[in-house]
Amino acid sequence: MALCVEICLHRKNASVQQREGVNLKINIRELLAGEKSQKEFEYSIPAEYNEGGNEAIGDILISGKVTDMGGYIELNASAELKYRTQCARCLTELEKNCKIDICRPVTVSLQNGNEEDEYILVGENSEIDIDNLITEELLLSLPLRSLCSEDCKGLCPKCGCNRNEVKCDCTDKEPDPRWAALRNLKFGE
Ligand SMILES: [Zn+2]
Ligand SMILES: [Zn+2]
Repeated sequence: MALCVEICLHRKNASVQQREGVNLKINIRELLAGEKSQKEFEYSIPAEYNEGGNEAIGDILISGKVTDMGGYIELNASAELKYRTQCARCLTELEKNCKIDICRPVTVSLQNGNEEDEYILVGENSEIDIDNLITEELLLSLPLRSLCSEDCKGLCPKCGCNRNEVKCDCTDKEPDPRWAALRNLKFGE
């Protein structure tokens, strides 16, 4: 349930994120005409995204190729984004990189029974526009929870120090950290 809500939020934000004045499309006329067997592309689009503790830094870098596979056309693209987030345990600020790859067949028109989102549809002037698709996939792949490292020791529940950097006195005296928060409450009052 919680996950669904999160994804809906991401989706909503991803579709809202329309670039103003920029609309990069990939022209595949030569591929459709059989004059070329491959077209490569590389560009970037601005990312203004700050949701669920993940904040985009800089642009989304998109690169890939459209290839005539003999009988059908296929798009292979990857998108990459740097983002700022926080370690869920020790709250240290982190800069991370997220990368996705997509591979989809490209079609001029959908046949009966073909799902729209399984294909890249060729639009006007033999152009395809993958920005929304790839932005959405990329933002959906951002983790809901990040860690500075798998074995991050987190914050001491009693004194609040970062246990990765400091070894406080209270650490060893707390046999069960689950009780520490409760004790803290009592002492605090
Ligand atoms: Zn950490
Ligand atoms: Zn401590």
